[in-house]
Amino acid sequence: MSNKTLKKLLDERARLLAELGTLPRMLHGSWVERYSVCSRPGCRCHSGDRHGPRHYLVVHESGRQRQKYVPNSQVDAAQAGLAEYRRVREIVDRITHINLALMKEDAYED
Ligand SMILES: [Zn+2]
Repeated sequence: MSNKTLKKLLDERARLLAELGTLPRMLHGSWVERYSVCSRPGCRCHSGDRHGPRHYLVVHESGRQRQKYVPNSQVDAAQAGLAEYRRVREIVDRITHINLALMKEDAYED
């Protein structure tokens, strides 16, 4: 690998690491929408017009799945957070490839 190629990889890695700092709303989880039936007698929800949607993010916490309620006012921001997390994953995968290439060149631990 030429010095120029090496520098390109190091520059790309630096850019990707900087980009991680622009993704503060990242959320890792599965999105769930739920409609529910309440306990009020005669409520419209009992004839099919169920309440909702209510939104939840299913996250991992201490090795368990937990459903976290997301208020309607935060739904758009939370969706943006999920998209940010997808970008985080792309960045981590790309940095992994860069670091493996650097390893071959003995430039990984620098
Ligand atoms: Zn109801």
